[in-house]
Amino acid sequence: MIISRFAPSPTGFLHLGHAYSALLAFQLAKTSNGLFKLRIEDIDLIRCKKIFHNKIYYDLNWLGVKWEKDVFVQSDRIYIYKNYINFLNDRGLVYGCECSRSDINNALLALDKPFKYPNTVTYPGTCRKKKLDIWSNNIRINVDKINHHLGSPTLSFNEKGLGPNGEKGIQQFDLQWFKQTLGDIVIARRDIRTSYHLASTIDDFHQNVSLVTRGNDLFYDTPIHVLLQKLFNFKIPNFYHHKLINDQNGKKLSKSKNSESLNQLREKGMSLDEIKSLIEQ
Ligand SMILES: [Zn+2]
Repeated sequence: MIISRFAPSPTGFLHLGHAYSALLAFQLAKTSNGLFKLRIEDIDLIRCKKIFHNKIYYDLNWLGVKWEKDVFVQSDRIYIYKNYINFLNDRGLVYGCECSRSDINNALLALDKPFKYPNTVTYPGTCRKKKLDIWSNNIRINVDKINHHLGSPTLSFNEKGLGPNGEKGIQQFDLQWFKQTLGDIVIARRDIRTSYHLASTIDDFHQNVSLVTRGNDLFYDTPIHVLLQKLFNFKIPNFYHHKLINDQNGKKLSKSKNSESLNQLREKGMSLDEIKSLIEQ
């Protein structure tokens, strides 16, 4: 039985890409007599708006997906994420980082070859030994210490969908690789006391999600989530990364570029079947 989920951020109205993601996750759960869960990822209180949050339920109803009653709203759960950060801090596996973005860029420019990994800039480790207070700074994991703590493990996850470069099946990595590519990533931003990585990993576990479905732009972040799952002794779910839906110009749909929302398409008179055929192309 598959427990899947849809976890939108209410920073805009849902668009075709969201519709595809929600319908796919719902379908995968339904065909296994499983459960489909909903989570509102609103940790960024500046960008998230109640009007967008409320409309999500309306849009999903219109799409015909049915979700379980245990809807998680992340802004209600900050204290839970904090407990997990304390768990890591008690074991000396995180540290405070006071670097600004330009501090990090300048430090990287001073290095010969800053390694570029998708979605990330590998942190040069400037604050690793400063012993800064964690709660008044950004909080980073210490990958070296974690590697030692876990006994130099090889970690893996099972890709049930497809990564951006055709990745499929068991994906393995170790923490030497992690350190050189992803590095000591931020797990809690100073302003919001958590991060996408931390909050979504903890919530997938608390919602018993067995299949994480999401766009393949997040495929290369998956080792971060698997590492956190290992640290917290969570069962590692399967992952299903799916294609991204493009607009008519072949550009990725995103709320910031004024993509047409489901709301607008509906107001133009587009039916649910027409929407479905648009995203299945
Ligand atoms: Zn720093």
